Amino acid sequence: MDAAGLAGEPDGFQRLWTPHRMAYIGGENKPVDDAAGPGCPFCRIPTLPDDEGLVVARGSLAFVVLNLYPYNPGHLLVCPYRHVADYTDLTDDEVVEVAALTQTAMRVARDVMSPSGFNLGMNQGDVAGAGIAAHLHQHVVPRWDGDANFLPVIGRSRALPELLSDTRARLAAAWPRPTEG
Ligand SMILES: [Zn+2]
Repeated sequence: MDAAGLAGEPDGFQRLWTPHRMAYIGGENKPVDDAAGPGCPFCRIPTLPDDEGLVVARGSLAFVVLNLYPYNPGHLLVCPYRHVADYTDLTDDEVVEVAALTQTAMRVARDVMSPSGFNLGMNQGDVAGAGIAAHLHQHVVPRWDGDANFLPVIGRSRALPELLSDTRARLAAAWPRPTEG
């Protein structure tokens, strides 16, 4: 899989993809500027096929995508299609849809992966830790007891037991279909 243009925020950690010992070299999808368009991963991803962009679900104003640099398995990002940086820039309808997709993401992750809890949140601005600050995205991070192990501390690495393409397929299959009529 070509990592260029996919979703996520390089954070300095290496990932150990434990099933196949596959390693990502991070950082190449970091946008060069704050402009909308193909240089922004969150603008480009919705133009890709779901499996290529790691898209799990598409709403009318926002979409749900797997983070290419997950903190944990099933780490999802809920993003408006519109290239806006600040939460206060969202329209009322976008706020509602981002919130609804966040709820559905939690329900689907519970069905598929049985986490014990979640971290939800948005990093607003570079200073707050946003890797792609120009395009708003809400993190949905499943948590399990004991998931914070020693690897990030001593190895700058995180162990992830499932490949992203497999996680995406499982979450997308469990995502509720729009009701007919
Ligand atoms: Zn964008």
